[in-house]
Amino acid sequence: MENKKRIYTFGNGKAEGKTEMKNLLGGKGANLAEMNLIGVPVPPGFTITTEVCTEYNKYGRDAIVNVLYDEVKAGIENIENLMNTKFGSEENPCLVSVRSGARVSMPGMMDTVLNLGLNDKVVEGLAKKSNNPRFAWDSYRRFVQMYGDVVLDMKPKNKDDIDPFEEILERIKEEKGVKEDTELELEDLKKLVKEFKKAIKENTKKEFPECPWEQLWGAVMAVFDSWNTDRAKYYRQMNKIPEEWGTAVNVQAMVYGNMGQNSATGVAFTRDAATGEDIFNGEYLINAQGEDVVAGIRTPQQITLEGSKRWAKLAGVSEEERKKNFPSLEEAMPSAYKELSDLETKLENHYSDMQDLEFTVQDGKLWFLQTRVGKRTGAAMVKMAVDMLEEGMIDEKTALLRVEPKKLDELLHPVFEKKALSSAKVMAKGLPASPGAATGKIIFFSDEAEAWKEDGEDIILVRIETSPEDLKGMNLAEGILTARGGMTSHAAVVARGMGKCCVSGAGEIKIDYKKRTLTMDGKVYRQGDWISLNGSTGEIYNGKVATVDPELGGDFEKLMKLSDKYSKMYVRTNADTPEDSRVARKFGAKGIGLCRTEHMFFGGDKIKAIREMILASDLEGRKKALDKLLPIQRQDFEGIFKEMHDLPVTVRLLDPPLHEFVPHESASQKEMADEMGISIQEIELKVKLLKEFNPMLGTRGCRLGNLYPEITQMQTRAIIEAALNLKKQGIKAIPEIMIPLVGEMKEFKMQEEIVRDTAELIFKERNDKIDYLVGTMMEIPRATLTADKVASVAEFFSFGTNDLTQMTYGLSRDDTAALIEEYVKKGIYKNDPFQVLDQDGVGQLVEIGTKRGRSARNNLKVGVCGEHGGEPESVKFCHKIGLDYVSCSPFRIPIARLSAAQAAIEQE
Ligand code: PEP
Ligand code: MG
Repeated sequence: MENKKRIYTFGNGKAEGKTEMKNLLGGKGANLAEMNLIGVPVPPGFTITTEVCTEYNKYGRDAIVNVLYDEVKAGIENIENLMNTKFGSEENPCLVSVRSGARVSMPGMMDTVLNLGLNDKVVEGLAKKSNNPRFAWDSYRRFVQMYGDVVLDMKPKNKDDIDPFEEILERIKEEKGVKEDTELELEDLKKLVKEFKKAIKENTKKEFPECPWEQLWGAVMAVFDSWNTDRAKYYRQMNKIPEEWGTAVNVQAMVYGNMGQNSATGVAFTRDAATGEDIFNGEYLINAQGEDVVAGIRTPQQITLEGSKRWAKLAGVSEEERKKNFPSLEEAMPSAYKELSDLETKLENHYSDMQDLEFTVQDGKLWFLQTRVGKRTGAAMVKMAVDMLEEGMIDEKTALLRVEPKKLDELLHPVFEKKALSSAKVMAKGLPASPGAATGKIIFFSDEAEAWKEDGEDIILVRIETSPEDLKGMNLAEGILTARGGMTSHAAVVARGMGKCCVSGAGEIKIDYKKRTLTMDGKVYRQGDWISLNGSTGEIYNGKVATVDPELGGDFEKLMKLSDKYSKMYVRTNADTPEDSRVARKFGAKGIGLCRTEHMFFGGDKIKAIREMILASDLEGRKKALDKLLPIQRQDFEGIFKEMHDLPVTVRLLDPPLHEFVPHESASQKEMADEMGISIQEIELKVKLLKEFNPMLGTRGCRLGNLYPEITQMQTRAIIEAALNLKKQGIKAIPEIMIPLVGEMKEFKMQEEIVRDTAELIFKERNDKIDYLVGTMMEIPRATLTADKVASVAEFFSFGTNDLTQMTYGLSRDDTAALIEEYVKKGIYKNDPFQVLDQDGVGQLVEIGTKRGRSARNNLKVGVCGEHGGEPESVKFCHKIGLDYVSCSPFRIPIARLSAAQAAIEQE
């Protein structure tokens, strides 16, 4: 292995690293270094780089111990010197924590070991030094359990397995007749350590390692190993984090929040992560260690007095009880609170962003264990970006880059329908952990979520508390309900990250996993029963409560306006109805990029008319049917043009394979036979003749119009007449007629002629005219390669990246979802190419097609109207290659607008 620096130390106001070194030191390590540099108190320590994780995966444990040995030793010595302690000493012990820390935070995904360095002798030294034997033994029993779980791999693997340590702990508490861990006495803790070690021997056939150095190497390797657990892999897949990044390891002097009543530990946010309001908030526990706050074992208390009062109101706790049992940090430890509150402002200003902080008060002295940019809901993300911009903390471009386009989706999340809510019964209340409304059927086990979703069910995951193992179920559920845990519990933090509705810490509900029941307010719910959650108030409702789409606030509008200021591309919508057009305009669509006319043929009498046209045996029969369709189509276009007045509407001529429209069941075949006055046998024969083995590559798109010109004539007539009718009413329609599935320039030409001849005819009939364009979909690879020829006749291009992906990859759009999922899992494909544009292959065709097209017609208007038009990375690619616009479904317009702005800023 090459000779390089693998360890960076920090402590006492000095550090070898800094914030900018996140890739090498991980987020946590880089910020621990930075905090030292700006005068925030941090226990000394060192960071082993993320590169070592990659080396570990390649070369294995022994090689890594070898190459790190001297640097780790020096790192420990640095801690010893600064803390004036000694690693492994029985008189003056130095204990450390060993934590993971990837480039981007992966909350709860990887492992941590605390209190490392304790053994049967050192614990006595710690007892003497702290003058607190209970604290020393409490730390020791926690360490043995964590070491067993994390390093010796004794954590339960299946939901039915019992954690051997938890079992012992529960038994000893029961024997003693106590409920809380804190009620255990010294002798009980000693007994716990003994029994824990016995369990380790039984399970692993090895003794618990007494040597601190052996403990340290074991823990470091366990953190590296935790990068490769299934849950970490799943999280990376979900968040598109590359496998090769690896995690850093942070080794740091321990400070103690469990040293007695003058010690505490907590988690805080510089602003409200759920709403975005500028309110310092967080939770803490007196006489506890870090994991107690997030594990949901004890009910955490609020940091600020104001927050504490608000919490009490929500939890139904009286002021008297609050003061006595759940005082805020502001009340309980005023001077530590003051310092914390000053430093939270300092940290937020330093990083110019909302921070998520971890701190410990050891015997009255405040220490920071972590600061990182806090995760937040979509709504909070928008509010903070706009607020910080208005406060002058960040500039416009930073504000735009701060918002993840996909997160905007959450602002468009449903809320409960007012009427449905007025008759809904609140059964219990928990904490409003992550906003939004959700309704679904109860399930208790995460690994069963998939099967329910496959059956098309909406589900609510109900857990006593969640752990990283539940990630998949949380991701699939509409909402999450937990009985334990505060606002910073695993469930709450992860749900907010996902933008998923979550109610946590609903103490009054009872969950029985064995019986699969949930009991609220005396009523027993079984798996599969409906409940509803309000993640903004914490209320849990009986049964199914209908939801509606939300109203968008002023900050959202400001952000959208700001996006348009910086973006070079504009955004249109894919819409086939006046309703969709209306919504799209509200979201800022600058026109319709794709109106799929075949979608207008489904339903009611329309389907009968189109079937009659397809089944007709001659031109006369087809014309008769088309005459019935004409007024229906014209009316549909009038509706859409009206909503989109003064904006262009790209209407695509009929595209789908005809067999999709013909009746396949005998009842509907008979209906058509009666309607058309022919025999059912004739219908059956026609249906057989139309059947294609590869309909996606068959008689569809412009091929239909070239075989049956009367279809194109009818559609053109409907479009032009609709526009002329509106013109009479003073409404301006701007139709752009689009020819689908062109592969050969002459295919386009033939269609164009029919369109133009028909339009001219109507202009003469009406003695009136309008402006219109005739362009094409670019969705066959051949068209993109011969784009100069196509553009010599077509007035605009719209890339149909759905078909272009299908034909470039040779992947059927309709049959390959499961195959693609497997391919993504196996790492053959990075993404589903139908969701995220394949820039290397399909993207190249778009780029080539655009260049060649513009070489023949320099003002050629080019857009994308495949599914990729609303996917952030694909939108950015479209900007990069100089497209004029993207078109997407109405609810994705805000995402596309912001992505377009970010692309422009990132390119500067
Ligand atoms: C496309 O192919 O990308 C497209 C937009 O058309 P459709 O999805 O209707 O085939
Ligand atoms: Mg298509």
